Amino acid sequence: MQSKLLINGQLLAGAGACQPVLNPALGAPLLQVNEASAEQVDAAVCAAEAAFDSWSQTAPKDRSLLLLRLADKIEAHAEELAKLESDNCGKPYAAALNDEIPAIADVFRFFAGASRCLIGSAAGEYLPGHTSMIRRDPIGVVASIAPWNYPLMMAAWKLAPALAAGNCVVLKPSEQTPLTALKLAEFIAELFPAGVVNIIFGRGASVGSPLVTHPKVRMVSLTGSVATGSNIIASSAATVKRLHMELGGKAPVLIFNDADIAAAVDGIRTFGFYNAGQDCTAACRIYAQKGIYEKFVAELGAAVGTIKYGPQQDPDTELGPLITAEHRARASGFVERASAQAHIEVVTGGKSVVGPGFFFEPTVLAGARQDDEIVRREVFGPVVSVTPFEDEAQALAWANDSDYGLASSVWTQDVGRAHRLAARLQYGCTWVNTHFMLVNEMPHGGQKLSGYGKDLSMYGLEDYTTVRHVMFKH
Ligand code: NAD
Repeated sequence: MQSKLLINGQLLAGAGACQPVLNPALGAPLLQVNEASAEQVDAAVCAAEAAFDSWSQTAPKDRSLLLLRLADKIEAHAEELAKLESDNCGKPYAAALNDEIPAIADVFRFFAGASRCLIGSAAGEYLPGHTSMIRRDPIGVVASIAPWNYPLMMAAWKLAPALAAGNCVVLKPSEQTPLTALKLAEFIAELFPAGVVNIIFGRGASVGSPLVTHPKVRMVSLTGSVATGSNIIASSAATVKRLHMELGGKAPVLIFNDADIAAAVDGIRTFGFYNAGQDCTAACRIYAQKGIYEKFVAELGAAVGTIKYGPQQDPDTELGPLITAEHRARASGFVERASAQAHIEVVTGGKSVVGPGFFFEPTVLAGARQDDEIVRREVFGPVVSVTPFEDEAQALAWANDSDYGLASSVWTQDVGRAHRLAARLQYGCTWVNTHFMLVNEMPHGGQKLSGYGKDLSMYGLEDYTTVRHVMFKH
């Protein structure tokens, strides 16, 4: 397994503390990796800064070509990357190979094309005798900080638009899941000029913090928890950095009496539990209208009870483990506190699985109330709550009564209702009669504590640029 960092075009062993990297399905180490030392963090940022002048002036068609070649490399090594990702995250291998790798290659292909279509929006004589034009230019060195739930996908979401726009990047994957990003470092070392991309390994406090506070870093892009986002916002204030924050979520799912109940049950069985529910858009906060509530809860409980958890390689496995023992204990704490309340019923699941690894039973909790912790806070595990509601106004009010604002869905056959709610839900995304589906052409990103800035789409590319005015006197 590739465990070296990429700094200034060289693959180098980390010179900092040694960290174990685990297989969460076994709870056992896969290998040990050395963190970047303080000097290596500085060297990575300085290499990115030195490469910026040339990379930012490289023609879009040539930047685009390298992104396309990287996409080809990813596809050519699909099985190896999927194995690393599933071993390190506990994901079913088939999901990593068939769902994630094609989408990851497509992120690089989308931004390869998009880099050639970046436009300034005006050129004209707004003052007599002068011509003004608008440019969108790259920002400089971007520090990109990724989480553990989709390690290679998040690396792609961060690298592709930043590089397409002409920035240079220092990427830090999560200390729990560095293996695919370190493999990517090998491909990038072969393809890209030295310093354009640097990939360093380490924990938040020892490596992330010196990276994001480095004075030569001009932008920080984080996908992670609200706590880390707030920390980075505060610590980057002194150097006034540009920020891009993709933080947590607690997606409301509104199911009306007129919904196709079988489709809703099937949708939540899939989209509430994909990646073991460790997904910021997971369909986890369900509101079901009173006319169908009992039937829906019974059918959802029966469906979720059939989800098969197990090791990554088993082709029948649908649900992997949680990422660490600590994370499982946290998820388990939410379920214990919820089920201790008399009004909440554990319809299925509810317990940690005894045995190796960090598995938790797929869980449905019914009868939850709007003010319950399980309705308000992000569990980030295979746990959904169901709350009965009276009417559309109550469902909308409860859906919007949240600190988060990333994703939501409405399940109804009434087109008028779907439009009314889609217009008023305070979320970065609203799906109608589905959930969770993303495409690279459409923006992804939140409101409120879910953060700001967009991933994917032309908006994602624009986020990695600065708007400039250039004026000519005739
Ligand atoms: P985390 O915040 O613990 O860690 C994220 C990354 O930040 C890691 O690489 C970590 O090392 C780094 N980090 C931590 N402290 C830092 C600091 N002081 N300075 C710099 N870097 C630091 O999050 P996680 O546990 O890896 O991921 C789970 C969270 O991510 C969940 O809350 C989830 O909702 C969120 N998430 C959001 C999205 C989205 O698109 N909005 C997508 C995936 C995950």
